[in-house]
Amino acid sequence: MMDDNSTLLSSAEICTQELFNDVNFNTIMPLLSDCIIQNVGKDEILVRAGDTGNTVYLILSGEFKVMLSPEHIEPVTTLGPGQSIGEMAIIDHQQASAYVTAIKDSRILVIDEDVMWSLIGSSHAIANNLLVVLSQRLRHGNSVIKKIKGLLKEYEHNATVDALTSLYNRRWLDNMFIRVMQRCHKDNEVLSVMMIDVDRFKDYNDTHGHLAGDIALRTVSQTIIQYLRPEDLVTRYGGEELFALLPGLNAAATHTVAERLREAISQTKIADQEGQPLPSVTISIGIAEMEDHENPHKLIELADKAMYKAKHSGRNKVCSFVSEE
Ligand code: GH3
Ligand code: MG
Ligand code: MG
Repeated sequence: MMDDNSTLLSSAEICTQELFNDVNFNTIMPLLSDCIIQNVGKDEILVRAGDTGNTVYLILSGEFKVMLSPEHIEPVTTLGPGQSIGEMAIIDHQQASAYVTAIKDSRILVIDEDVMWSLIGSSHAIANNLLVVLSQRLRHGNSVIKKIKGLLKEYEHNATVDALTSLYNRRWLDNMFIRVMQRCHKDNEVLSVMMIDVDRFKDYNDTHGHLAGDIALRTVSQTIIQYLRPEDLVTRYGGEELFALLPGLNAAATHTVAERLREAISQTKIADQEGQPLPSVTISIGIAEMEDHENPHKLIELADKAMYKAKHSGRNKVCSFVSEE
């Protein structure tokens, strides 16, 4: 940081400071006369998180960014001429919570804590302005929290929803399956599951391309969502394998639903991005009903076994584990 005592303060620079709004230049000038003006070069860090500051910086020219950590790309806010840095620290004497870095070559007026308190003590208007600045900081802090909350929600969504199909992902199933089972058990409600696998999907990809395969998989997923009830939960279990939880339905009722679904998928038209028709696909479905509410893996295994039976009996079939054992 370069000191530049030779530069003189102009009344315009002082009067446009938020902290000196409606303040008589001549009354504060004697107190400011010992304050130094500093040049801060572009990319220079003025304040680091953890610093214990006893200085207020008034920005005379240039621009600064405020970052929660140096590696963050997006600043929390930017500050320009007329705004101040460090005014909170002289009140609460807490460590700085952010990094303040010059975005451009900048000039600042450095006001030590005791001078700042003298200014506040000497002028009602400065005390008033300080309150305004602090309340703006508070409001901005709240809007940052709101934005972060929104981002968290988005990340949460992305962490539990599969991007291609918009179905829940495997991670969601790993967390939620046991809870759904326990809730059904507690409510004395039956629960059935379906393992759904697209038939000969490797051939579909090989013949029509991976992109067409993606479109087919998305279409299958949407059709399943349309055919099931809102309370049913559908996840993308693996590549072209989907797994559905149907609370309140026993294996026999689920079999009926699955038959309708199987038929509907085989009839569902698929179109590529240009709207050109692609061949329909078929699915094989394996069904199992909950008996042991503590063991989701067992239920998945039973549904998987039933699904393989459906494959071995010719594909485009529904097999129910419970009804066949
Ligand atoms: P089966 O009837 O026995 O299930 O035959 P299959 O060809 O469907 O089974 P296999 O397990 O041999 O192949 C599954 C194929 O699914 C291979 C893989 O490329 C494809 N697949 C898995 N996930 C995706 C995906 O996200 N997009 C596309 N386009 N294909 C996928
Ligand atoms: Mg398959
Ligand atoms: Mg498969």
